[in-house]
Amino acid sequence: MSTHLLHRAIHGHLPTAVGGKGIELFDAEGNVYIDASGGAAVSCLGHGHPAVIDALHKQLDRLAYAHTGFFTTEPAEQLADLLVRNAPAGLDHVYLVSGGSEAVEAAIKMARQYFVETNQPRRRHIIARRQSYHGNTLGALAAGGNEWRRTQFQPLLINTHHIDPCFAYRMQQVGESDEVYAARAAQQLEDKILELGADEVIAFIAEPVVGATAGAVPSVGDYFKRIREICDRYGVLLILDEVMCGMGRTGTLHACEQDGIAPDLMTVAKGLGGGYQPVGAVLLSGKIFDAFANGSGFFQHGHTYMGHPMAAAAGLAVQQTIERESLLANVVAMGNELERQLVERLGNDRHVGDIRGRGLFRGIELVADRATKQPFDPALKLHARIKKEALKRGLIVYPMGGTIDGVQGDHVLLAPPFIVDRNDVERIVERLADAIKAGI
Ligand code: PLP
Repeated sequence: MSTHLLHRAIHGHLPTAVGGKGIELFDAEGNVYIDASGGAAVSCLGHGHPAVIDALHKQLDRLAYAHTGFFTTEPAEQLADLLVRNAPAGLDHVYLVSGGSEAVEAAIKMARQYFVETNQPRRRHIIARRQSYHGNTLGALAAGGNEWRRTQFQPLLINTHHIDPCFAYRMQQVGESDEVYAARAAQQLEDKILELGADEVIAFIAEPVVGATAGAVPSVGDYFKRIREICDRYGVLLILDEVMCGMGRTGTLHACEQDGIAPDLMTVAKGLGGGYQPVGAVLLSGKIFDAFANGSGFFQHGHTYMGHPMAAAAGLAVQQTIERESLLANVVAMGNELERQLVERLGNDRHVGDIRGRGLFRGIELVADRATKQPFDPALKLHARIKKEALKRGLIVYPMGGTIDGVQGDHVLLAPPFIVDRNDVERIVERLADAIKAGI
């Protein structure tokens, strides 16, 4: 490893990744890993997909870059068309960026500009949820609800307010039905809007299935329908962050389809380009677009690499491949199989508190005591030990934990490529069960 590159963690050794094929990654020492989390829910087509590589070669031969202040490009226009064709109702415009944090920043700024354009400049607050992650740039970090990530930057994070997530395993009371709990969790949003002033709130932002921070936590009951109603009642925009859970990961192209709602703004990234290029997008409603079009005539934003032709070509090729190969059906089938095998293999383990998620997006929460849901002592750094044990067994999973916001424990996130088969699922679950046993 070079001594000049600042890695995420300064101490320790990282293997050098040199290749990948299908669901496997290879390092320079000849080790082979099953990529059961697609990195961080990124590599939805696995590695080395020939159709995507071919599309990228062709785009590179034609044109690598043109600044969006001067030109549009075919792949950017085609990707926008494809995204709108498959978008939740009302989302009919697309803004292309380079990743998830950028998408969240742009969505927040669009929401604010919408109210400036429509003569409501008093609106200045964003409401988000605890145990959430929306990215690491300052606006996205302000929205995120993970104290560990936020604490030292707190003085720079302004005008955001947090409510509890809908997190049944940790927050639903014994004997409380899903409907009653969903209503109680959603009520927090209305209370917060009224506390801040109904005409002073810009937007509520949430992940339909919470990813990195909580470990594949979907809502229960009609939580998101209630959220949609509350936002509408007070003219607050709803931003759904589908950077991790979107683009097919949960078995429908967009996770919110399963909640029966459409947002005003939606962010997507990771699975959009499957890791073949850095690409993200904001999908916005006609109402917001029209406010810009009839007002100042532009969205006051813009990055040098927005709408990058190589990134757009990757997104286009990945999404066309998912359609052509009918991979969403495989996400549903193999997602059910993954859940079945996880429950069969780990369901009775005294340290497995919860197995949850949708499609090929599954979380396993590990606890010291299953009966009391007592988390492990954070000092044990259990999630780090499991990551290490999994890597030793040739398995890449995405563990997080150590008591996030004093609420939850350690969890392991699985987000394998959409191309997995039953045999792959079996190998993943077997290696994971061994790694958990060795780690604890
Ligand atoms: N939003 C969500 C829900 C995420 O999971 C992430 C990354 O994990 C982000 C935003 C930030 O995306 P990026 O790391 O591409 O900036």
